[in-house]
Amino acid sequence: MGVFEDSSVASLKGPKGGTHTCPLCGSQQETSPAPSYWCEHCLSIYTDDGGLYTRSGDEQYNFTESGWFRLLGTEKQLGTDRPEPLESGFVAFADVVQPLLDRCVGQLIWSGIWLLLMAVAWLPLAWGWWSIPDSLPWMMTGVKGVTLLFAVLFLVSLAMSGYYWSGLMMRSLLKPYLFPSIWEDIAAKAHSGFTDEVERLLNEEGVEDHPGLLTNLGLAYLQEGQRDKAKKILSRAHELCPSHPAIKALLDTA
Ligand SMILES: [Zn+2]
Repeated sequence: MGVFEDSSVASLKGPKGGTHTCPLCGSQQETSPAPSYWCEHCLSIYTDDGGLYTRSGDEQYNFTESGWFRLLGTEKQLGTDRPEPLESGFVAFADVVQPLLDRCVGQLIWSGIWLLLMAVAWLPLAWGWWSIPDSLPWMMTGVKGVTLLFAVLFLVSLAMSGYYWSGLMMRSLLKPYLFPSIWEDIAAKAHSGFTDEVERLLNEEGVEDHPGLLTNLGLAYLQEGQRDKAKKILSRAHELCPSHPAIKALLDTA
C-alpha cells in the first residue's frame, strides 16, 4: 500500500467540511468539504490550514469586476458593496492608497502654483523690468507682502505634500504596486494573452492549484477563443474552490 493510500493520512490531509474560521477576518463559515473555501465577509479564499490565496506578503488579491484575479487596485474589486472587513487590516488601493496619492500630488501641484505666483510678483521688480517710485513706499510694502504670502503658501503646500508622501512611505503602501509579487506578474501575462508563459510560471512557482491564478489562465484561453481549454481549466478552478461565485460565473460563460 502506497503512502497516499493510507486512509489515516488521507483523513488528516484531506479537505474537511464543517465550521471554518476565515484566517483573514476571523468570521465563521459553514463549509462543505473542498480544497479551498471562500469567505463571504471579506471575499478571501483560504485553505484548511490557514493558507490564504488572497494575500501574498503585504499584497491583497481578489477577483475584479472584469473577472481577473489581480492585485487589488489594478482594477475595481468585485462586490465592493460588501461590508469592509476593518479587522482584517485590509488596505484597498482605491480606499486608502489612491486618496493619499491624490492629496500628495495635489499639494505638489499647488506648491508649484504658489512658487510661480511668487516669481510673477517679485522677479520683474528684482530684474528691474519696472521699479517703484520713491514717492510710493506703500507699493513696495505691498509687493513684499504679497511675495511673502505666496512664499508661505508654497512652503505649506510643500510640507503637506511631504506629509502625505511620508504616510505612503512609512506604511509601505506603494510597494505592492511598484514591486508586485509573481502572482501579479502571472495575472498581467494572462491578461496580455501569454498563455504558454502563464502555464510555465504556474508550474514553476508551484501555484498550479491556486484557484484565482488558474482562473486567469482560463480567462486568457477564453480570450483567445480556445473554449475547450478554457472550460477545462475553469472547471479545475471550480473544483478547487467550489462555492466561489466568480469562478462559477466564469465557468458558466465558457
Ligand atoms: Zn474573511
